[in-house]
Amino acid sequence: MHDVGFYEMRQKVTDGEISKEFKLVNPAYTSRTCPRCIYVKKKCPFTQRTFFYESCGYIADRDLVGYLNVLSRAGSESS
Ligand SMILES: [Zn+2]
Repeated sequence: MHDVGFYEMRQKVTDGEISKEFKLVNPAYTSRTCPRCIYVKKKCPFTQRTFFYESCGYIADRDLVGYLNVLSRAGSESS
């Protein structure tokens, strides 16, 4: 399901249809936000590959976190 959504999003970006939504999603900011509880970390060292969100104990690779957040934001703000 995520793969399909990501593919469709990329297609739209290519077509320039959701350029507005994409600007709202700051890549640096997305990896700071916990995809589970939406808590935003204050510190976000770029050398850190795995993020731990002390708010709920969620642990994930920063790339995965950014990926999940971009998907969720693009989906919720394009409607
Ligand atoms: Zn969390």
